[in-house]
Amino acid sequence: MLFLSKTRALAFAAALVLLLAACVPLSLASRGAHAASFCVVIDAGHGGVDAGVLGVRSEVRESDLNLQLARLLRERFARAGFCTVLTRTGAGGLYGLPTPGYKKRDMQRRKEIIESASPNLVLSVHQNFFPADPARRGGQVFYRLHSREGEALAASIQQQLNALWGTSLSALAGDYFMLNCTPYLSVIVECGFLSNAQDEAALTDAAFRSKLADAVFAGALAYFA
Ligand SMILES: [Zn+2]
Repeated sequence: MLFLSKTRALAFAAALVLLLAACVPLSLASRGAHAASFCVVIDAGHGGVDAGVLGVRSEVRESDLNLQLARLLRERFARAGFCTVLTRTGAGGLYGLPTPGYKKRDMQRRKEIIESASPNLVLSVHQNFFPADPARRGGQVFYRLHSREGEALAASIQQQLNALWGTSLSALAGDYFMLNCTPYLSVIVECGFLSNAQDEAALTDAAFRSKLADAVFAGALAYFA
């Protein structure tokens, strides 16, 4: 089982950044992109009146955990020289007023932000909830159906999450708006299960969230390298 300590993960990330720097011009040129630097959109799911799911014991809001993790991811990608865009930067949603149709407006706004960024990568951050089986644990990564790039990226992040959580889950194809709303390489990272008390305790711990962000970041970089 591959487990990277924080120091090793950072050293690993630094080595991958050097590799990435060598690969980026080629991959951008081959995709016809005109961006000066590699760009990642980090999407913190939910927000505002839409809390997402709630922790089974603490009732922690998924929307808050997603934002905290999105900020940690932004730090890591920015430090590595990426251009970073967050779909939301605060606790509020992206829908304006919480009047009927707010969820649709919120999702539409996320799509517009991704389109205007023309990113090389979209990471949508969420937390899982499966009350039918409270024993279910760990991170779960989804990719767009029939996207081989997405599948490879998701598998790379999944490998890091499995190492962190001690699980052996596989990345899954999913038919979700955030995967399908633009043509850009996109994955949904369900970081852990808020329906599982052990996962919930880990996710509400700042030190563990930092490790989670390291794992997602390392998985993404390993894919590009
Ligand atoms: Zn969610």
